[in-house]
Amino acid sequence: MLVSLLAGCGPAPTPAPAPLPAPTPTVAPSATAAASPVPAPPPEPAPLSEAALRAHVEALAAPELRGRGSGTEDEAAAAALIIARLKQWSIAPAGDDYLQTFKLRPDSGRESANIIATLPGRGALANEVVVFGAHYDHLGVRHGEAYLGAEDNASGVAAVLEGARALATESSPRREVLLVFFGAEEIGLVGSRYYAEHPVRPISQTVAMVNVDMIGRPIGDREGLRLLRSLVKLDPDASLGVLGTADRPVMREAAEGACATEALQLWATEDFPAPIRRVLEAFSEGRGDSFSFEDVGVPALFFGAGESDDYHRPTDTPDKLHYPLLTRRARAITDVVRRLATSRERPRRPNP
Ligand SMILES: [Zn+2]
Repeated sequence: MLVSLLAGCGPAPTPAPAPLPAPTPTVAPSATAAASPVPAPPPEPAPLSEAALRAHVEALAAPELRGRGSGTEDEAAAAALIIARLKQWSIAPAGDDYLQTFKLRPDSGRESANIIATLPGRGALANEVVVFGAHYDHLGVRHGEAYLGAEDNASGVAAVLEGARALATESSPRREVLLVFFGAEEIGLVGSRYYAEHPVRPISQTVAMVNVDMIGRPIGDREGLRLLRSLVKLDPDASLGVLGTADRPVMREAAEGACATEALQLWATEDFPAPIRRVLEAFSEGRGDSFSFEDVGVPALFFGAGESDDYHRPTDTPDKLHYPLLTRRARAITDVVRRLATSRERPRRPNP
């Protein structure tokens, strides 16, 4: 395909004699490609592979995107990059367009956008929706320094992109999976709040939300937390944190089952001793796009590893991520989405 497209470029040919009927090809397309001077593009890494995830992180946290500041042209360039991947994999927009544009503030001239795409549902559950999301903006340039945001949140975007790519190839009956990449999270969850107020699918049919924010480093990757991690026997190389499973058996089961298949320890807030649990809950309340969904009654899971020593610093760069861990977590979270999208029991309890 690439070779035939390129063959149409270049200077106009000199007028040809009377056209001949097209000859029957005598060589296989691969042989034609092999004979061409144009090198074939390298094969794309497999869905949810370490190489594929790393490539997204490096592209989104590249110096050229200058930290994807909320409402900047760098954020828009990151959006274009995400949309290009979705198109490449034939993942369609949920409406006429991938972009849901909104103002940063009611009185602001500056805009940001959510990117919304769909993996349509199939069968009896097709009219119910599971939202799978991650914010793609970061802090941009401050005092002349770019905050590249590899962990926050190129890691989460990479997981949602690759998870979507994997789920798109599956054909079993399931709910619709709505992919939402949120803009302007860093200035106060602006994109997810806008989505919750302007949903592209009815909130009443949205049975669950899965948010991914910072999953490429060990949980609580801070020098000061080393002792606490060892006290609670948290394995830094094989654990995944989640908020939102307490008192929600369908969601808890989905998260536990998915983590077991990747040999990950699941650390939900309710699993920590009570004093730590209270601190964690108070600290995380309202600090992620999942809360915008909780606020309108959609049960939401927030997968993340918490803040590292490089959190919101220019040193949050792609080389700091633990890619084998990111890969296992991205696979497990995708499996959570798969389980929530296929479970017979509705993840959302009917209103009392
Ligand atoms: Zn974040």
